[in-house]
Amino acid sequence: MSTDPAIELPFFYGSISRSDAEQHLKLAGMSDGLFLLRQCLRSLGGYVLSVVWNLEFHHYPIEKQLNGTYCITGGKPHCGPAELCEFYSKDPDGLVCTLKKPCLRSPDTPIRPGVFDNLRDNMLREYVRQTWNLEGEAMEQAIISQAPQLEKLIATTAHEKMSWYHRKITRQEGERRLYCGAQPDGKFLVRDRDESGTYALSMMYGKTVYHYQILQDKSGKYSMPEGTKFDTIWQLVEYLKMKSDGLVTALGEPCVNGKAAEEKKPAPPATRRQNGYTPPPQALIAALTTQVSIPTDREVLPMDCSGFNPYHNPNEVRKFNIKRNQLLIDEVELGSGNFGLVKKGVLKTEKGQIDVAVKVLKSENDTAVKEEMMREAEIMYQLSNPYIVRMLGLCNAESLMLVMEMASAGPLNKYLFANKSTLTVENIVNLMHQVSLGMKYLEEKNFVHRDLAARNVLLVSQQFAKISDFGLSKALGADDNYYKARSSGKWPLKWYAPECIDFHKFSSKSDVWSFGVTMWEAFSFGGKPYKKMKGNEVMSFIKEGNRLDCPSACPERMYTVMKECWTYKHEDRPDFKKVEESMRSYHYSISSKAKPEEAAAAAGPV
Ligand code: AMP
Repeated sequence: MSTDPAIELPFFYGSISRSDAEQHLKLAGMSDGLFLLRQCLRSLGGYVLSVVWNLEFHHYPIEKQLNGTYCITGGKPHCGPAELCEFYSKDPDGLVCTLKKPCLRSPDTPIRPGVFDNLRDNMLREYVRQTWNLEGEAMEQAIISQAPQLEKLIATTAHEKMSWYHRKITRQEGERRLYCGAQPDGKFLVRDRDESGTYALSMMYGKTVYHYQILQDKSGKYSMPEGTKFDTIWQLVEYLKMKSDGLVTALGEPCVNGKAAEEKKPAPPATRRQNGYTPPPQALIAALTTQVSIPTDREVLPMDCSGFNPYHNPNEVRKFNIKRNQLLIDEVELGSGNFGLVKKGVLKTEKGQIDVAVKVLKSENDTAVKEEMMREAEIMYQLSNPYIVRMLGLCNAESLMLVMEMASAGPLNKYLFANKSTLTVENIVNLMHQVSLGMKYLEEKNFVHRDLAARNVLLVSQQFAKISDFGLSKALGADDNYYKARSSGKWPLKWYAPECIDFHKFSSKSDVWSFGVTMWEAFSFGGKPYKKMKGNEVMSFIKEGNRLDCPSACPERMYTVMKECWTYKHEDRPDFKKVEESMRSYHYSISSKAKPEEAAAAAGPV
């Protein structure tokens, strides 16, 4: 999920107020340079650094920039809050002093979650559940892999589901609605101003209606004039319920849009104010999710295809034996491999038809090949993850056939090569993050793939990757962490870690090495690794300490991950848990949040 990058810092307190921060610093002794970090209520993803100097408190807001970096106003950008604090512990660079001593959270002081943290996460979950009909592990994986895209989706559409949003009505109609019924101070509504896409806030105070224009700056952030900026309208409204921020008073009860209300579930219980303000997440979630609609113009997500979770009811579809009359096989060939041809097909199930890929054994008489195919089927049968091609069953008819989920956009290397001009780095990062999620799942299940390469990553769409080809894969014993091959075979040496070649030892750590090479292929748009070298030349090249160069389009942080994957000693190499974390944090940092291309014009009467 969208975990806060500061969560690991022992001096991070979460969403505490300025006075709470000062209280903690007082208790910790008020020494010069004593500091703590807290979440900023105003800017999403931002922080405040609270520092003591000369027995006084200094609070510095840290903004999260659209490119994912963090900086104190006027200061240098840093890639994370930890890096920023480390920098200021060496160089004051405009602060009253360097950061000298962290004010550590005591074990009985948990990090206080922010108002929006819980809300956003809950809304995201509900949205995914309802939109794609996902549950359990498939839902978790969908959220992890697409959190930034999902957040953006929710953020840009959330206000449309709120009872206080009245769409396009005139100022006069807004006033009429506010004067209808009770007229308490703070009663409010939000409306579209005109066709420009800007909004206005109308509110009641002292039996008079006031109108405010909601401004939007160049980066798409919303605010009241001179007020705090927010990524979305609903967050601005939530904030204005807590603080007046330049309005005549803070927002109170919503003026409910009758039309919207008719379409909604019964209203949730009234908001209870306690200790400041705690908005009722359920109310917002209910409001958001009553009518889930998928906007037609948005970017396609992996979950939009039926393949994200092909088993409506796993026990129903996922039968090991598929009857021949359930299967239609097309003459279209998708490709060919060791066992034979892979053809396009359709599997008929009680819930409907599913597009499938059918691997057809080329020669029934070759028992060795048949056994190999059975072994691959056995491995695949034990795996179920959205980022791994699932086996749907075996069909033993005119030949032995392995029926799998269809990944119609084909192998990653070919796809990237053919679509170089239209693909973005962000897209590749997203796909490689998915591959790391699939590999993390394999690692957790104690399977080694042994043939991870871009040619064996198949695409369902430009946004959705699945690991395939389990022909060389092995399930490790419960107490083993590697597989020892008795003899070498037709091995993909350029993808293999040194211990595979030298000692025939295969583990998830050697898959990590292959993941690094796969990343290199991806960021080279399907280029061939160690182009002109032979397998044995690559081995000496690696032993001498050399590694593949950084592909020209590859971001520095992604090349760093590759180099970590190519750590010579497997003991020192990261595992997939760590690799997935690195991929995730980079993926999230470059997937910008709600960011309209152009700020709407702010002129005209409100
Ligand atoms: P393999 O025998 O697993 O190496 O597969 C050979 C080729 O068949 C692959 O390179 C793909 O082009 C194609 N193929 C294999 N599995 C699938 C699948 N599940 N969906 C679509 N194409 C596939």
